[in-house]
Amino acid sequence: MLRTHSCGELRKEHAGCEVSLAGWVNRRRDHGGLIFIDLRDREGIVQTVFNPEISPSGLKTAEEMRNEYVVRVTGEVALRPAGTENSKIPTGDIEVIVKDTEILNTSNTPPFYINEEVEVDENLRLKYRYLDLRRPRMKENMLLRHRVTKFMRDFLDARGFIEVETPILLKSTPEGARDYLVPSRVHPGEFYALPQSPQQLKQLLMVAGFEKYYQIARCFRDEDTRADRQPEHTQLDIEMSFVTQDDILNLMEELYTSLVETIKPELHLVKPFPLLTYTEAIERYGSDKPDLRYDLEIADLTDIAARTDFAILRTAIDNGGKVKGITAPGCGEYSRSQLEELNKLVLSAGAGGLLTVSLGAKGGGLDGLTLNEVKSVAAKFLTLEQVKEIAGRCRADKGDLLLVVAGEPDKIYPALDILRREMARRLKLADPGVIAFGFVVDFPLLARNEETGRWEPANNPFTEPRDEDIPLLDSAPEKVFGKNYDIVCNGLELASGSIRIHDAELQRKIFRLLGYNDKEIDSLFGHMLEAFDYGAPPHGGIAPGIDRTVMLLAGEETIREVIAFPKTQSAMDLTFEAPSPVTEEQLAELHIRLQEEE
Ligand code: ASP
Repeated sequence: MLRTHSCGELRKEHAGCEVSLAGWVNRRRDHGGLIFIDLRDREGIVQTVFNPEISPSGLKTAEEMRNEYVVRVTGEVALRPAGTENSKIPTGDIEVIVKDTEILNTSNTPPFYINEEVEVDENLRLKYRYLDLRRPRMKENMLLRHRVTKFMRDFLDARGFIEVETPILLKSTPEGARDYLVPSRVHPGEFYALPQSPQQLKQLLMVAGFEKYYQIARCFRDEDTRADRQPEHTQLDIEMSFVTQDDILNLMEELYTSLVETIKPELHLVKPFPLLTYTEAIERYGSDKPDLRYDLEIADLTDIAARTDFAILRTAIDNGGKVKGITAPGCGEYSRSQLEELNKLVLSAGAGGLLTVSLGAKGGGLDGLTLNEVKSVAAKFLTLEQVKEIAGRCRADKGDLLLVVAGEPDKIYPALDILRREMARRLKLADPGVIAFGFVVDFPLLARNEETGRWEPANNPFTEPRDEDIPLLDSAPEKVFGKNYDIVCNGLELASGSIRIHDAELQRKIFRLLGYNDKEIDSLFGHMLEAFDYGAPPHGGIAPGIDRTVMLLAGEETIREVIAFPKTQSAMDLTFEAPSPVTEEQLAELHIRLQEEE
């Protein structure tokens, strides 16, 4: 080794030791005669001192050193002179008095500061990702990610799971997103698809008798990139035989509880994880991935609204709609423009509009409220008793603001979800120091695609319907619930999974419902149906997103911050400038001719 110690590990106890270190110049300070180099490696930073009385040639070399040069030093660890200790860094009690040094490599001036936490354009960071990853925050994120996956592996290994790798070049499997395709050279005109997840493979591993499988699996989905989405993401893919939904949820609760308590003990973890049905989640929070760090629960006001003289609400109800509201605590004196911003949000979510009811200024309690203080377009159609009844239902107090939306459920819930998130943001209710997991269960098995009119699976086509709902598959598919479940965390969907179908006939029936004819079923899924006929055990699984898990633990806003080499919003790798054109020869070998772009 070129070194005996890492820069970050040196402490008081090392005083008097002769050490060799290698790393990058984090900062150089020239004190006329004395030069100080803060030397950095992965483990931390240590101060080295170049003194002409100890090594004249060393000082000369140090004069040439610039930020990010790679250097090696040999010298003696010494306690810093009293009063010059630096309590901000773990090595701050000592310094290394250099006897000998060598520049191992020089560096251009980096395009952005590495030794200072400054805001840098993200595209520049992504182009020079190898420099960006030298910065402390990114380095910490990568180390955290390593600890998270290592924890998951150890946790599952201790419980009898085995890790199995599955192919990346495979067949297109319908999981709701567009596939990435890879042309075959050997089979002209044919394509592999990169797996959207190892779903079918892990099920086949259950048929193969492995019983407990996991994999840190890469999944490829050609869909629009967002803060929590990338063209390729990593998930902890899990499958088990002979289990019920409870077994899987218990395992996940244990995994995530111990993960957070071990790796991020400073976070406040809400325990135990609450369990909501899909219907409850929608009715209480307007979303199947509610942020459970705060309440702002939705109240149903339909019955009260039906008794008022306010025509807009009554018409909505007569047309089969509902009236729902949430309370924005302490916002009773919101200005017209603040209210208008909220109205715009509601419109953007597809609802007809927002009705606001301001309950005056704080103080005195609801009993003290007078009709004069109530500000709302609905005020002249409501009695004071009705206002109080609505406020009571919303658990509001004087000084609060009621946000009310009316219409069809599929229009108003998305609006209430947006309002809830927005009010939490404005009122700073989503505490970044809190981590709140929850299980959402009992999803409808299928959803109708409004554009194509076809049924689509809520999770994937392999989910088993609830036993009692199987007879409804023929008569009322929309009423069938599945044995699928999600883990949500701080307003994100962290994992989905399900108990799978293991019976070929039932699986075929589901494929037919999804609109495939028998020929398509056999060509797309024949291998699964055939496998089920060779003693497939009952099985189920789940797949938590690793990027999202690390993002939550790191307190980052996007998964790009916890992926070493992520793609941009437009699915580009800026370091490699991928995707990129290829040569005519490569295309010819793949039997591909490019179309002229217009
Ligand atoms: N394959 C599913 C997904 O990627 C997860 C699962 O059901 O295990 O979302």
